[in-house]
Amino acid sequence: MKKIKHKKSLGQHFLHDEGVLEDMIDVSDISEDEVIIEIGPGGGVLTEKLVQTGARIIAIEIDELLVDGLEERFEYNDNCTIINADIRRINLPELLEKYAIDKYKVVANLPYYITSSILRLFLELITQPTDMIVMVQKEVAERICARVGDMSILAVSVQFYGLPEYLFTVKAESFEPIPKVDSAVIKISTIIRKFEKVDEKKFFKIVKSGFCAKRKKLVNNLSNSLKLDKLIIEKKLASINLKSTVRAQELSVNKWKELYKIL
Ligand code: SAM
Repeated sequence: MKKIKHKKSLGQHFLHDEGVLEDMIDVSDISEDEVIIEIGPGGGVLTEKLVQTGARIIAIEIDELLVDGLEERFEYNDNCTIINADIRRINLPELLEKYAIDKYKVVANLPYYITSSILRLFLELITQPTDMIVMVQKEVAERICARVGDMSILAVSVQFYGLPEYLFTVKAESFEPIPKVDSAVIKISTIIRKFEKVDEKKFFKIVKSGFCAKRKKLVNNLSNSLKLDKLIIEKKLASINLKSTVRAQELSVNKWKELYKIL
């Protein structure tokens, strides 16, 4: 194989730990009749394992130089399609239609600089993946899987659509070049639009308003950004059993939904 020159700007930290690759495949629980979308196949180490499951693999890589190597590596694997594109610019609904995909999983070692946009991109699709098994920075994994008390916009925006679970930590030394921080594999399952009657744009406007100043009380944040009277907000909070001193990080997704309904 040709020597790869890593592009830091594209988050190119390549996994070389065979055990981690196998664990990722195990937790992804893939059967032959499934479709898997991989983002950022890089040198193809994870792609190779995915291809071996017999599932249909669609791997999307931005770096043209890597794509050449990937096309060569998987030339004789009929179940593998390599697409040279930026995941942020590709028309995913069109891609799903083109390959007649109505059910799929996302399995990937994500480029960390765009982790949250990639998660949002897939979670907000009309045809959402059934599960996402992704490697992200450890600290981001912990934030995504946070519970009430430690919630953030990121946690709400993932937990609104699915159930994230922290599976295992991956040491920084498992990658080449070695990144500054450890990583972790998470699984987001039960992905659906849980609250069909919620206008997602308005819902997340309220969530963002609630988190606008980190340590401030929810009532102050909502009143400042939504230009609403503090007393009115306090009354509304009380009507859904929330104290006037509550902070945004203490609300579960269900509570945000209750708040959305009354605001
Ligand atoms: N899957 C490989 C592995 O596990 O060793 C590489 C993972 S590396 C963390 C992330 C990969 O995502 C790189 O190959 C990088 O070129 C690719 N990438 C970065 N930005 C991308 C984008 N916007 N769209 C598609 N691929 C991207």
